[in-house]
Amino acid sequence: MSIDSSTTLYCLIGNPIDKSLSPLIHNEMFRIFGKNSIYLAFNIEENKLRDVIDGFKAINVKGFNVTIPFKKTIIRYLDGLSPEAEILGAVNTVKNQDGKLIGYNTDGEGFYKTLRNNDIDVKDKNILLLGAGGAAYGIGITLSTKGIKSIYIANRTREKAVNLEKEIKKINPNISTSIGDLSLREINKKDIDIIINATSIGMYPLENLSPIELNGFDKKTIVYDIVYKPRETKLIKEANLRGFKAINGLSMLLEQAILSQKVWFNLDEKFLEKAKKVEGLLSVYVE
Ligand code: NAP
Repeated sequence: MSIDSSTTLYCLIGNPIDKSLSPLIHNEMFRIFGKNSIYLAFNIEENKLRDVIDGFKAINVKGFNVTIPFKKTIIRYLDGLSPEAEILGAVNTVKNQDGKLIGYNTDGEGFYKTLRNNDIDVKDKNILLLGAGGAAYGIGITLSTKGIKSIYIANRTREKAVNLEKEIKKINPNISTSIGDLSLREINKKDIDIIINATSIGMYPLENLSPIELNGFDKKTIVYDIVYKPRETKLIKEANLRGFKAINGLSMLLEQAILSQKVWFNLDEKFLEKAKKVEGLLSVYVE
């Protein structure tokens, strides 16, 4: 890559960002797509967010990603939202459109794309969603538009599960919903088709923990852990040992990044397929 006076700047803002794979992924995609752009990561203090956004506008940063803990708070500094970001109340991708910063959310669609890549049809399926944080919101709300039959939201903090359940009901009142905690006491495990871990349990530094035990679930159940660091979480290891189909978080990470590039450069699907090459690079970096 050669940097010159025409090189455009993209970046990630969050706190902490030191373990982020986004610079690796996006710089590689710029190379694949032949873009004269560079992607950096900035660790931001909450009280500096406004200054950062004003600075981005002043120096014409073309786009950026937003991660924990700013996915919601960023909204007040933006000039507009895509319909998905509006529904989710959270933004992970921002595009500078002629000086106006527009927020998008590619988490839910990125997740859904990976299900399709694995030939998994969610229509009439019973979902167990672990977590009710930002990623769980994106996933739960996206799934509620895709014909699922039921969703059980299990979260440590009940209030957040209640809020997500309400949002899902607003979008599709026909979905059967229920909530509980991670003990899964009230659930009939045999009915569950897909388990999705969208909690941080299993992710560094909680890598020695698993959000749930898999005993009692039917062998046909698919176990999807969106955590990607480590690649094989404790939950994924247990799923593999017990013979469940298991999917880790790397493919979602890649798909949501591809969708960010789509937002920034208006790339069509065929062109975006080239970005799949990044997957090989990621498997080298993520243990
Ligand atoms: P978040 O908004 O902070 O939500 C964290 C979730 O984990 C909440 O449901 C939280 O429960 C739960 N949790 C955290 N620590 C817990 C503990 N010790 N015991 C029980 N529950 C706990 O984070 P997020 O953005 O949703 O991200 C969640 C995970 O998904 C992270 O590991 C992140 O790296 C991963 N992720 C992966 C991708 C991908 O592309 N593969 C994309 C986004 C996120 P409470 O509500 O009770 O706090």
